[in-house]
Amino acid sequence: MEHYDVIVIGGGLLGCFAARGLRRYRLKVALFEMREDLCMGISRANTAIVYSGCDTKPGSLKTSMCVSASQGFARLCGELGVRYSLCGSIMVSFGERGDKVLRNKLELGAENGVRGMRLLDSEGVYALEPNLAAGVHTGLYVPDTGTVMPWDLCLAAAENAANNGAQILLNTEVTGISSVSQGGGYEVSTSNGVFFARGIINAAGMAADRVHELASDPVVRIVASAGDYFVLDTKAAGHIRHVIFHEPEVKGKGLTLVPTVDGNILIGPTERPGDDFRTEHVGLDELRELVSRVMPTLPMEHIIRSFGAVRPNPHLLKRGENGDFVTDDKSVSDFCVLESGDGAFLSFVGVKTPGLTCANELGSYAAEKMAACMGAGINPEFDPLRAPTVRLSDLPFDVRELFTQMNGPASCRIVCRCRGVSEAEIVNAITRVPGATTVDGVKRRTGAGSGRCQGSFCSQRVGEILRLESYGAL
Ligand SMILES: Cc1cc2nc3c(=O)[nH]c(=O)nc-3n(C[C@H](O)[C@H](O)[C@H](O)COP(=O)(O)OP(=O)(O)OC[C@H]3O[C@@H](n4cnc5c(N)ncnc54)[C@H](O)[C@@H]3O)c2cc1C
Repeated sequence: MEHYDVIVIGGGLLGCFAARGLRRYRLKVALFEMREDLCMGISRANTAIVYSGCDTKPGSLKTSMCVSASQGFARLCGELGVRYSLCGSIMVSFGERGDKVLRNKLELGAENGVRGMRLLDSEGVYALEPNLAAGVHTGLYVPDTGTVMPWDLCLAAAENAANNGAQILLNTEVTGISSVSQGGGYEVSTSNGVFFARGIINAAGMAADRVHELASDPVVRIVASAGDYFVLDTKAAGHIRHVIFHEPEVKGKGLTLVPTVDGNILIGPTERPGDDFRTEHVGLDELRELVSRVMPTLPMEHIIRSFGAVRPNPHLLKRGENGDFVTDDKSVSDFCVLESGDGAFLSFVGVKTPGLTCANELGSYAAEKMAACMGAGINPEFDPLRAPTVRLSDLPFDVRELFTQMNGPASCRIVCRCRGVSEAEIVNAITRVPGATTVDGVKRRTGAGSGRCQGSFCSQRVGEILRLESYGAL
């Protein structure tokens, strides 16, 4: 039986950053992911915003992590070679109720230590975002809000963890965990065999409550809810310059618009009942209606995609009248990190927004606790740096010629015309560790297939390159 110091369960943002954080210490680490690739759960479908920490409760774990994460995000992305846009955000109100919410957030943000926030009058808002609908009252400008591609970040963290010696096992579902009575630790049963670990970090996303209960008493249950998004083509780029949060005048969810690092505009999410990644008409119609009120000129004819997301809402469990466990009505508002086994079993249960922003902080937090529990020293060989992948489409035209001369013909053979992705970029995505094994995996790593035609032109060729790289023949 293979022995590890720590097994991380789940290859989403939290699991990948936990594995990276653990390798800062002298610990033998493995990450088990049940799917064929990493970043396939909640981390795959979200709003991609790096939050500043201006609207969470002062003194909470969430707030302290969010404020420090946002202020250090450019450095983290620099280390991991990940694209990051510090575009800032404007929260806009169209009436008295919204104005009050914005003033409260300004106070909350100041108390939390968020930098550079300021209230804008309507003129100031239109100067920054001229395409907003008429009738804006007030804006709250927050310079420390940004946006990042969640796939880039998650895969970069995993690659850096792997380069530092963490083992990543895909297609490995954890099915059972039992405490070892003599000497401590855990026997972890998976679809790929049985392993031993002295400690476990459970980052199983939507299944984190059930994984926690494999070895501990039930404390928190996840209640799912769903959301819908639209994506606009890069033709719409420039229509907004900041992340825009709309504070509605009636209670309910407003509109969020995000100018992504790829030049698309993300619209959403809604909040509705649901527990899977399907979109629903009712949600998409709601987004269209909100757009018609908040930014009617947004070119909705450039929609290239819609997608669904699932939220893991954590609810405390209490005993019902007949002794059964029932969930509390109110969901836990702070990050929920459960500890059992004298600190050797840590579970992230129901980490929602701003979990993407705080993934590095949460991963480091769990790693530090685990290292302390195991008395592990610092790993002097840990290297936090990851070389970025070069995207041909990001290079200026005069540099492209030199680049392709130096890197051979595959570096200028374009496979995805919409995004300008070259054959060499696709081969690189397959051969890097952890590499893509599916067309979808290539898309997440390179953007091939995520443009205007949504892969109708390039997916067959991507499939051929995958087969060639994996099996050596077509
Ligand atoms: C709609 C929505 C929008 C959001 N927007 C933002 C945002 O803009 N900014 C922000 O900061 N945060 C945002 N978040 C929060 C952020 O996306 C999450 O906190 C984060 O992605 C959670 O990642 P995770 O690693 O916990 O879960 P996941 O990404 O779901 O990873 C869990 C992994 O565990 C695997 N797994 C499950 N069971 C097992 C098992 N038994 N064995 C092995 N593997 C298993 C799954 O396959 C999955 O890959 C948003 C969340 C939602 C839902």
